[in-house]
Amino acid sequence: MRKSAGRSELIYLLILIAVGALLFSMFSSPKTYTEVPLSTVAQWLKDGQVEELIVSDGEVKVKKAESSRYYIAYKEVGVSITETLTNLGVPPEKLAQVKIAVEKRSRIGEWVTILGGLLPLVFVAALFYLLMRQAQGANNQAFSFGKSRARLFTTERPTVTFDDVAGVDEAKEELKEVVEFLREPQKFAALGARIPKGVLLVGPPGTGKTLLAKAVAGEAGVPFFSISGSEFVEMFVGVGAARVRDLFDQAKRHSPCIVFIDEIDAVGRYRGAGLGGSHDEREQTLNQILVEMDGFDTDTNVIVMAATNRPDILDPALLRPGRFDRRIVLDRPDVKGRKAILQVHVRNKPLDKDVDLDVLARETPGFVGADIENMVNEAAILAARRNKKAIGMKEFQEAIERVIAGPERKSRIISEEEKRIIAYHEAGHALVMHFLPNCDPVHKISIIARGMALGYTMPLPEEDRYLHRKSKFLDELAGLLGGRAAEEIVFGDITTGAANDLEQATKLARAMVTRYGMSEKLGPMTFGEKQELVFLGKEIGEQREYSEKVAQEIDEEVRRIIREAYERAKEILTKHRDKLDRLAQALMEKETLEGDELKAYLSD
Ligand code: ADP
Ligand code: ZN
Repeated sequence: MRKSAGRSELIYLLILIAVGALLFSMFSSPKTYTEVPLSTVAQWLKDGQVEELIVSDGEVKVKKAESSRYYIAYKEVGVSITETLTNLGVPPEKLAQVKIAVEKRSRIGEWVTILGGLLPLVFVAALFYLLMRQAQGANNQAFSFGKSRARLFTTERPTVTFDDVAGVDEAKEELKEVVEFLREPQKFAALGARIPKGVLLVGPPGTGKTLLAKAVAGEAGVPFFSISGSEFVEMFVGVGAARVRDLFDQAKRHSPCIVFIDEIDAVGRYRGAGLGGSHDEREQTLNQILVEMDGFDTDTNVIVMAATNRPDILDPALLRPGRFDRRIVLDRPDVKGRKAILQVHVRNKPLDKDVDLDVLARETPGFVGADIENMVNEAAILAARRNKKAIGMKEFQEAIERVIAGPERKSRIISEEEKRIIAYHEAGHALVMHFLPNCDPVHKISIIARGMALGYTMPLPEEDRYLHRKSKFLDELAGLLGGRAAEEIVFGDITTGAANDLEQATKLARAMVTRYGMSEKLGPMTFGEKQELVFLGKEIGEQREYSEKVAQEIDEEVRRIIREAYERAKEILTKHRDKLDRLAQALMEKETLEGDELKAYLSD
């Protein structure tokens, strides 16, 4: 109520301004000028009748001494006024007696003039808009806000549930707690349990982040408010923050509920990362999100879920405790995951007897959930066009081709050849790590692309270590280089797939030499002062306080350490070539190996 009172005051103010602006523009017509030839102006000057000349580009406005009228003459653009008049026979001493003002008329100036004329119109239009909106708002209820401002953010009550999201069991497991909380917030509040405010969903596009967030709302039976970070980037300063405020106001009024912010990296990237959009706008929007989240009481019962595929560029402020401190990773699905997703999407569709979902899952490495949905849809369309009663294997296979070629594809398919190389690369990492005593045990390996690296081998730290031994570093280095080593041994050729490994290895080796004093040759001392931007946790540079010669020695040491680690990796892999082959083969079939199954392949 109070809100609408404030709004009508605003409307009266606008009426006043609009009327004023209209009157002003009607009565303040610009000065009128009488046109005269330039030669006349020259004559006046010679006679000493001119008081002032105002020159802008080709226009010369003349103010005569005994007259209130203005005259205008035109001269050639690019030739100065004094030159023009001198050419017309005006002596320099006469010219010196008059005031000559040169006006630089910019494009902007012209636009301001034009827009100024339009201003009253704009006011009237804005007025109408506001009046209309108020009239509408009066007879709408609870959800009117979301509807009447459909473009600000969307509100819905999702009907999707966890059953509609497949292949992400771990994520669902983690989100169950959030669902329970949204269902019965009182139960948790009574026990004083602290519930996460923010959950960050991380994963490549099309892996089901939005779907999963909706499913949480669906499971809990609560409203779902959503907005996308990328929309803020093009907006005027201040609008983004206002939208965020509206969104959260509305959400709090409908709690318990979920607020979903898609593409949060668009507003939440750390300052100075990349270009595009207004920094001010981004920062204000981001700050508003943080302010809102920090302002939640224990009984606010709003859970904020945000999605990104670039967690690496997020502002650390977002990840602090009490904000998005829960992180759920959605990877590209492996064969098993893809089959499960296929099952979800063919649920209500008639299939021919020849359709084999296992085969289809195997034929689509690299596909994400959105690709699979797309593919099933294409297959259904093809079948309908052929007047078939059910979708056959043929349609599915054609649909796969279409999705691969289609413009909407969110991911690329991995070819057999690539699969082989990646499988050997990852197997190489895993085996080297397995055989070196100081490496953490390998828990899971996958050849389905994830982030920057093509595949990944995830070692699980046995315990938190604060002190690192040199022997552990050396083993880790060999492990990092195991991928590259396997490629070289098996294919006699190497790919770009190891770029990330090499970078990490180089960093580690350099740190051993320059920071931990682990090189015998250079001795136990540090080189270079590390400068860090504390809040970013990023190194911005190094202060060099050592000679060129030492720099060279450092480089040599780093190179030696890496070369030796690489040789060790190659040695291990050559010795266990049979295992390497078996593991790579298994990876190509299953795409992901973990736990006991993986252990069986590693040990004999
Ligand atoms: P994201 O938000 O990660 O870009 P979406 O949630 O928008 O991805 O996914 C788009 C569509 O793809 C979903 O509506 C759904 O139909 C399908 N999809 C994606 N992931 C899955 C999944 N894990 N299980 C079932 N369907 C999925
Ligand atoms: Zn690697």
